[in-house]
Amino acid sequence: MEKILEVKDLHVTFTTYGGTVKAVRGVNFYLNKGETLAIVGESGCGKSVTSNAIMRLIPDPPGKISNGTILFKGTDLTRVSEKEMRGIRGVDISMIFQDPMTALNPTLTIGTQLMEGLKQHHKVSGAEARKKALEMMDLVGIPNPDERLKQYPHQFSGGMRQRIVIAIALICEPELLIADEPTTALDVTIQAQILELFEKIQHATGVSIILITHDLGVVAKIADRIAVMYAGKIIEVGTKREIFYNPEHPYTKGLLNSVPRLDLQGEKLIPIDGTPPDLFSPPTGCPFTARCPFAMEVCDKVYPEVSALSDSHQVNCWLQDERAKQLLAEAVTK
Ligand code: SF4
Ligand code: MG
Repeated sequence: MEKILEVKDLHVTFTTYGGTVKAVRGVNFYLNKGETLAIVGESGCGKSVTSNAIMRLIPDPPGKISNGTILFKGTDLTRVSEKEMRGIRGVDISMIFQDPMTALNPTLTIGTQLMEGLKQHHKVSGAEARKKALEMMDLVGIPNPDERLKQYPHQFSGGMRQRIVIAIALICEPELLIADEPTTALDVTIQAQILELFEKIQHATGVSIILITHDLGVVAKIADRIAVMYAGKIIEVGTKREIFYNPEHPYTKGLLNSVPRLDLQGEKLIPIDGTPPDLFSPPTGCPFTARCPFAMEVCDKVYPEVSALSDSHQVNCWLQDERAKQLLAEAVTK
């Protein structure tokens, strides 16, 4: 399969008066063409910082991509000029955010906002831009597009506004769409419709999607693969099946246990005790040590290397590392 994006050893820091926050600490992942990768984790785990880094939207200062490469179709985005990046953003890579209202300009019609990107980046006539805008309105399921193009954001419901935001993001036919909590601000039935829309769009356009979310329900619906982030690191990655049916990292298991499941009605949800570590001075060992019921002596001292459980399933946990098993066995037989 063709990789459209490959992130290698990405580090992002923020310098504050209180010290340096190590928000992203050596993240590696790839995205195949046409697939949906979900990046999940609690707030503050670095998932949004990671996606902002891909878009080169880390405010510098105080933020900085301090190490790593972000290969998009072979080009390292950490090295292109801001001018080049402006030609990539919204054209090759688009991003949509949680709140559709802040993404739209209340003083401009939907039509104007839809056509803006097209006119800016492609030399198209007004008639062509309008035709494309109507097509996009149709793709995202907005009825009466002819009439609706003349209206303003406040004349649309929250769900319809998010559809418009998605249409704007897709009008230049990007190859990569990054959606950061795209359904969090919407009510449950509308959420489901927007998720279906993502699937429909991916089917129609072949766009590759990175979905950033804290909501495993969203992930279950549309992700192909899932990367779980904790304290600035990806601690487990696998196909949706692997992560949901065969999670190996104690944090991933904890996340899954803390989510309501329709098939286990009445069963108690088990929240994960404790809080993530301080990213001003993150631990050198496994960052989950303080909360992990299986923590061993080695965990606190040395960060576990990646263990491959299958071609697609990888985890950073000493429980899966042969050397830890040896160390334990030796300790038991002594
Ligand atoms: Fe728990 Fe150790 Fe695995 Fe970290 S490395 S998740 S502390 S068992
Ligand atoms: Mg999919």
